[in-house]
Parts: sequence; C-alpha cells; structure tokens
Amino acid sequence: LLGDDGAVQATVFATMSALATSTGALNLGQGFPDEPGPREVLDAAAAAILAGDNQYPPGRGTAPLRTAIADHQAHWYGLDVDPDTEVLVTVGATEALAATILALCGPGDEVVVLEPAYDAYGALVALAGATLVPVPLRAPTFALDHDALRAAVTDRTRILLVNDPHNPTGARLTPRDRELVVDLATRHDALIVTDEVYEHLVFDGPHVPIATLPGAAERTVTISSGGKTFSTTGWKIGWLTAPAPLVTAIQSVKQFLSYVGGAPFQPATAIGLALPDARFAEIAGTLARKRDPLCDGLDRVGFVVSRPAAGYFAIADARPLGVTDTEAFCRELPERVGVAAIPVTAFVAPERHAMVVGLVRFAFCKRDEVLHEAVERLALLT
Ligand code: PMP
Ligand code: GLN
Repeated sequence: LLGDDGAVQATVFATMSALATSTGALNLGQGFPDEPGPREVLDAAAAAILAGDNQYPPGRGTAPLRTAIADHQAHWYGLDVDPDTEVLVTVGATEALAATILALCGPGDEVVVLEPAYDAYGALVALAGATLVPVPLRAPTFALDHDALRAAVTDRTRILLVNDPHNPTGARLTPRDRELVVDLATRHDALIVTDEVYEHLVFDGPHVPIATLPGAAERTVTISSGGKTFSTTGWKIGWLTAPAPLVTAIQSVKQFLSYVGGAPFQPATAIGLALPDARFAEIAGTLARKRDPLCDGLDRVGFVVSRPAAGYFAIADARPLGVTDTEAFCRELPERVGVAAIPVTAFVAPERHAMVVGLVRFAFCKRDEVLHEAVERLALLT
C-alpha cells in the first residue's frame, strides 16, 4: 500500500487518468464510460435531489433499492433474497469488497484470488492482515486452470474471491469453473465472495451468478454495482447479497467505513434495476459493438488481442511491437501518441510480473469516434 519512500501510492487508475489529463491524451485507461446511461435513471436522481432526498439514508440502504436488488436477483437469476436481511447497499462495489474482506478474514486466513486480480483485492486483503493466494490466469485465453485452483484452496482458505466477468481480462467462468469453485469452497468450508459488477455487460449469453449453484448461496457473498450497468460510476452505489448472518457481520464494518451513502442515487439505481430486459440488452449490445472496432484496430496496429467475452476492457499483447517494459511503455504512451492505457502488471504481484510482460489493458467503454481516433494514434507506434 505504501511506496519505498513510505508515501501512499496512488492507484494505477488515478495515475493514468491524471497523466491522460495532463497530456491531453485519449483515456482508454480507467474504466468509465464517456456517454450518459439510461435517461430514466438520470432523471430519477435529479428528481430525488429536488424532492429533498438529501439526508442520511438507512444503514442497509433505502427500502426501494433493497427491494429492487432482491427483485433483480429473482427476475434475472431465480434467486430468492430477503430485501430486509440479505441485502446491504454500499458505497460502490469497492466498499462492499472492503467491508466483506475486513469483516470475514484476518491474520492466519488465506484469500484465494484469480490473478491478474482487480487491484483492490490485494490491498484489502493486506489491510485485513490476511494472506493472498493467487491462482494465475494465463494469456491469451485467461482460462481458469483447475489444477492450480485445486492446489491453492486448502483448509487455511477463508475466502475464495472470484470475479466473473473478469477485470482486466474480460474472461468469463465456464459452468465447470463455477462447479469447481463451489465444490472446493464446500469441501474446505470456505466462503465465496464473487464480484459480478460486469454481470450485465456480457456479449455471448446470459450471466450465471455462482450463488445459483446448488449449495452455493449459503456460503456466498455476491457483489455488484450500478456504476457499470447504468454508466454512473461516479455515483458509487454498490450492493451485496448474502445470508443474513454474513450481512450483519459485514454491515457492522460498513457502518464505520462510510456509515451510509448516496441517498438520491439509491432510488435512481432502483429505477435502473427495474428497467425492461430489452434495455439491458441494449446496454450490452452498445458495448459489444465497441469491442470489435477497438480489437480489430489494435490487431491492425500489430498488437495481439485477446477478445473479451464481457466487460469494459480488452488486453493487447504489445510484445510484437518490441515492448519489453510494459510499465514504461504505458507511462510513455500518452506523451508519445496521445493514448492512455493500463499495464496489466498493475493487477499482478511484482514477483510474478514476468507472467504478463507486454500486456496492456485498453478500455472500450468510450464513444466510437474516440476509439477510432485512438486506433489512428496507436498506428503511429509502427
Ligand atoms: N470490482 C471490479 C472488478 C471493478 O472493475 C470495479 C470498478 N472498476 C470495482 C469492483 C469497483 O466498483 P465501484 O466503482 O462500484 O466501487
Ligand atoms: N474499476 C475501474 C477500472 O478497472 C477503476 C476504478 C478505480 O479507479 N478505482 O478501470
């Protein structure tokens, strides 16, 4: 968490966004969209503010949002969630992850993660004093290695922390992967924490939450967020669903992290969750139509691209362009050609950086003309 000089390290996303701003580069680094989300959702937030919904909401989140979350889990996945006892609204998925990890593990506990892993996971496990156990996902497919997962999960495992769809790779778990996660967690009496913030941004078939597998819900904390689905990343409305005793334990930590958050954005996110299925399909379809122009463009420039099955991001291998120092390449890219991107090393512990040499993450949740211009600029690399 701290650098060699003892100073707090800015996250790679903050660093690269600042660099994009200072150089005027196109920001394909940090994952946030540059177009507004559904109009009804935005209108509902404006209306809530003007109606005076501006004071502390209840600790577990407003009743309409908790009900909308439970209804969403039932409608999309057939999950039966009690809005009063099994739902907790949080300040983004980030706080859901933080409160969950701080509440449920500590020194002596191991947390198994799929690596590359979203940067918050390692930081939060460190804050909890627990030990991170990485399972490598290898380029170009980033498929889950079942033997590696079996070897990583032991009786010391307190949490199996999975992320499906996955940031940064855009990979999705297969039915066999999900079964193995549940089987190992059950055999070793571990909890499953599943970060499914990209649940609606899938390009080839419906999302299947781990909690829907037989025997899974009783040991699973499912985390999501409105930010990605409704293009409202700045609102920071996230949530988790879990068995009631886990929700109570997690809320006991959450109340001292943020207490509560985002009063007017909670009813607005509830409106979003209740949008017709066709609107969700439209949201995924719009994003899917951005993936190929970026990936094809990167291919033409000479990168080797792993085409994602979900989410905001594509990983491109820059080694064919002669890149050996991925971090230096990404640091220099904004100045060199006016594009910002994230080195995948940011998602991997330093001792395993060799595994991801040359890999760069590009966000495609951007306007078509921005993606087009970015590809033209990247062509200057060759
Ligand atoms: N988990 C993953 C995998 C993410 O990609 C992100 C956001 N980029 C988060 C959690 C954090 O979500 P939020 O902005 O809702 O805190
Ligand atoms: N999750 C976003 C990403 O992966 C960034 C969120 C953040 O900056 N913490 O780009």
